[in-house]
Amino acid sequence: MKSTSETSILESYLQDESRKTGTSTRIFFPENESDVCAVFRKNPHTPVTLQGARTGLTAGCVPEGGLTVNLERMNQILDFQPSENGGSITVQPGILLQTLRQYLQRHPHPLPLFFPPDPTESTASLGGMISCNSSGARSFRYGAVRDYVLALDLILPDGDKLHLVRGKKHASGLQFQFKTRGGRLISGALPALSMPKVKKHTAGYFIKPNMDLIDLFIGAEGTLGVITSARLRLLPRKKLRWGAVLFLPKEDCALSLVKTLRNKTDDSAFPLEALEFFGSDTLNLLRHDQRRGLVLRESELIREDADCAVYVEFTADDRALLMDAFSTVCRELSAAGGDPARSWAAINASHIEKLREFRHAAPECVNRKIREIKKSVPQITKLGTDMSVPDSRLEDVFSLYREGIQVGGFESAVFGHIGNNHVHVNLIPHDMAQYSRGKTLFETWAKAIVQMGGTVSAEHGVGKLKAGLLKTLYSEEQLRAMKQVKQCLDPEMLLNQGNIFGK
Ligand SMILES: Cc1cc2nc3c(=O)[nH]c(=O)nc-3n(C[C@H](O)[C@H](O)[C@H](O)COP(=O)(O)OP(=O)(O)OC[C@H]3O[C@@H](n4cnc5c(N)ncnc54)[C@H](O)[C@@H]3O)c2cc1C
Repeated sequence: MKSTSETSILESYLQDESRKTGTSTRIFFPENESDVCAVFRKNPHTPVTLQGARTGLTAGCVPEGGLTVNLERMNQILDFQPSENGGSITVQPGILLQTLRQYLQRHPHPLPLFFPPDPTESTASLGGMISCNSSGARSFRYGAVRDYVLALDLILPDGDKLHLVRGKKHASGLQFQFKTRGGRLISGALPALSMPKVKKHTAGYFIKPNMDLIDLFIGAEGTLGVITSARLRLLPRKKLRWGAVLFLPKEDCALSLVKTLRNKTDDSAFPLEALEFFGSDTLNLLRHDQRRGLVLRESELIREDADCAVYVEFTADDRALLMDAFSTVCRELSAAGGDPARSWAAINASHIEKLREFRHAAPECVNRKIREIKKSVPQITKLGTDMSVPDSRLEDVFSLYREGIQVGGFESAVFGHIGNNHVHVNLIPHDMAQYSRGKTLFETWAKAIVQMGGTVSAEHGVGKLKAGLLKTLYSEEQLRAMKQVKQCLDPEMLLNQGNIFGK
């Protein structure tokens, strides 16, 4: 029988930021690889759900019965190899992004380095980020986590181990084979499929003929093995970072500004690193919470006459380059109908932090609202999209979203990574009828977005809540073949049940 304290610890680990609540019989907090192996070896034939920092938005780490393994105590830096062109760092999976950043800031020799992927939630763990192939505002310039994973150590559900190094093991066409640390050969076939041609995609397994097999485990949402350590690529950090929140009078103006700024990034003299969007619905939510003193307490009040905003960040070693880039932004902002004098600019680290608070406050406000609504309608979870489309379909996807929101009469908050045509559309349902209409609307959008050449998940993964959307992207046969890949590594389908393949 479990003690009361054990039960209450378990209960506090049954949710992630999607606000879905799961069930589990027991939770383990391994401190090293051997502890993880022991959980599998002592509990054969038992479903196991893995957890990082539980900031996920798709219930990927929310258990549906069985055991829970939370990796938060495996949070050490194992090795740091700085070099002139960046070098690498090896970490355990439970280390938080913010801890990794602090470590790199405290070790600026031989030169300051950084880990480029930057999900807005810096309390995410590296294990979770790798499992979701996370990305963030800076992915506009640097790509997602996948591009920075050099090696992985994994434990399979039978307790055996895999060590994978980028560049060392490729599929032969669509055939794959691994040799485990225990000497076992695991082989199988990858499904024949074509992934959407968008810059960010993390829905289902990453599959390409002749692919580097390490990529199969990145974005696999913990369904193929437990990541117990990762060697990550670092880049030299630029000396200067400037940013701005540009307020605009209409959404059309913002879309036109985004396209203009994005087109300039082919030129290295325009070092744009992040290009983000905040719709009128989001600004209203922020204004409301700012007035209540819940967010942005130390910021200027958000202007009443601003309809929407575009957020930009630039980095360079050369101040003159940033001055030129800012002049260009001011010129293009005026041309798009905005007023540079009424924008917020940041040209030092503390001001940049304030701008980032603004960016972080948007999802926080949505999450707080959902928490409030859940008090009276407990079954409600967060309803947010994570879809992206090719550059040429930016306006089309905005029309699709705005029409759906208006016709459905939803309260909404649209914001996010517009540089990659990837905004999060959050619907805020107030009752179960609205909640289920919202889910239906997401399915309609997913179909339209796949038709546009887009993806149903650009950075959060599909977890449990969006697993159904994969059916709009891939055929049943392709999904069956994807499942067979899992069966090669996890024959009893015990690990992270419900993720990617649903129930
Ligand atoms: C306010 C807010 C803003 C966000 N902004 C962004 C954003 O900009 N970009 C973005 O990409 N995401 C964003 N997210 C989502 C979330 O932060 C990311 O998905 C993050 O990568 C999850 O990391 P985690 O450690 O919390 O993982 P968890 O939520 O604990 O788990 C996520 C998945 O990873 C699996 N997993 C965890 N650890 C391991 C391991 N060691 N081995 C194998 N599988 C494992 C879990 O089983 C689960 O399937 C945001 C979330 C919030 C709340």
